[in-house]
Amino acid sequence: MKYISTRGQAPELTFEDAMLTGLARDGGLYVPETIPKLSTDDIKAMAGKSYEEIAFQVMRPFVGDTFSDDDFKGIIERAYKDFGHAARAPLVQLDHGHYLLELFHGPTLAFKDFAMQLIGQLFQTALSRRNERVTIVGATSGDTGSAAIEAFRGLENVDVFIMYPHGRISEVQRRQMTTPSETNVHALAMDGDFDDCQARLKDMFNDFEFRDGVRLAGVNSINWARVLAQVVYYFSSAVSVGAPDRKVSFTVPTGNFGDIFAGYIAKRMGLPIDRLVVATNQNDILHRCLSGQGYYKGETSPSISPSMDIQVSSNFERALFDAYDRDGNAVSKLMDELKQGGFDVNQGAMEVLQSHFDSGRASEEETSSTITETLKSSGELLCPHSAIGVKVANDKPASETPMITLATAHPAKFPDAVEAASGIRPPLPERMADLYERDERVTRIANNLDALKDHIKGNIRQ
Ligand SMILES: *Cc1c(COP(=O)(O)O)cnc(C)c1O
Repeated sequence: MKYISTRGQAPELTFEDAMLTGLARDGGLYVPETIPKLSTDDIKAMAGKSYEEIAFQVMRPFVGDTFSDDDFKGIIERAYKDFGHAARAPLVQLDHGHYLLELFHGPTLAFKDFAMQLIGQLFQTALSRRNERVTIVGATSGDTGSAAIEAFRGLENVDVFIMYPHGRISEVQRRQMTTPSETNVHALAMDGDFDDCQARLKDMFNDFEFRDGVRLAGVNSINWARVLAQVVYYFSSAVSVGAPDRKVSFTVPTGNFGDIFAGYIAKRMGLPIDRLVVATNQNDILHRCLSGQGYYKGETSPSISPSMDIQVSSNFERALFDAYDRDGNAVSKLMDELKQGGFDVNQGAMEVLQSHFDSGRASEEETSSTITETLKSSGELLCPHSAIGVKVANDKPASETPMITLATAHPAKFPDAVEAASGIRPPLPERMADLYERDERVTRIANNLDALKDHIKGNIRQ
């Protein structure tokens, strides 16, 4: 299995190299050259299997010969063993035909753990075999960073630096990044918003001298291995509501377009998905684009669903690449136009996008009232991100096709917004109940490439 860049100019890589690299050297994102298909019988056979067994079956064809079957099985076992729920991704019913996929039982209480715990094990196995080390730098709107620090803390071959927008993430998110005591992990509070963090990250990757000097690796949602890990729960959940004999739709609270893009990959692999609904908060560039208004950046406005406060959704480039018939030059041009503010999607590409994706948005008030109403109607206490998914799913016309909404974080990760909406302050699960008492360690840093590079060079272990 070969991986190619969405901008058509970077070398083809194996799974291992695409995973260790992250961003392609032409600024693009790696995607598999072809999408392997699972047969209806393969999918049928998933019924009754464990999450780990389904994970192996779904991901195996993408990994090529990077890992033996036994090694890969061991990696998957270790990745999910610390989850707080035996089913890993349990499904609960909200209403007739509407299900909630709880993706928040991992160690940092957000769906990012599904990918990051796996990546931690993949990196460790590959790097120790190669006797190499890397510096991981990430940008986070809150949950990626905490999941990354949790997955990589204490690992011998990896130093980790995570930039987050100072003052714009929840206290639980911040503490999950600043309280681990292992010296290979570093939280950086940047003066700027998430798009600034993401832009500086891209700058570092495009600075080849720095990139090669510190052996930079990326684990942001641009990393193909992360997308891949997320494909699994589309299969496991769809099969439990009747796929492949029945079609299934999904609504996904969306920021960087990674999670929903994994759903698109599941569909391309043969899972009978009817609609993939992008749910956004007031930062609704994707909803506007999918409604035919072009892809134009606005100002990011902080919301009660901070992990979705994003204007430029990195992974959307992967969807555009397919919509433009895998024409790397066309994608490069669009990305240049995006630097000037945005672009219009041509009609053919728009038709392709709309044949897979539908969209909706929720305002701040709608998000809060959905938390209140869902608690009343089903007893489920939603985090604000998940509430946006439920609200957008509820707005879609009734259908015979079951709808699965992804619950992307635990309500205790966003206690202020949840309490304001519901009157209930959700407690942290037992295993992290002392989070508010632990000591914090963080470096405040300017929104400046040189300051970041100096800090990283000065703090990596050699
Ligand atoms: C990251 C995140 C999202 C957005 O997911 P993308 O893959 O970036 O679209 C939604 N909700 C929560 C809680 C998140 O952490």
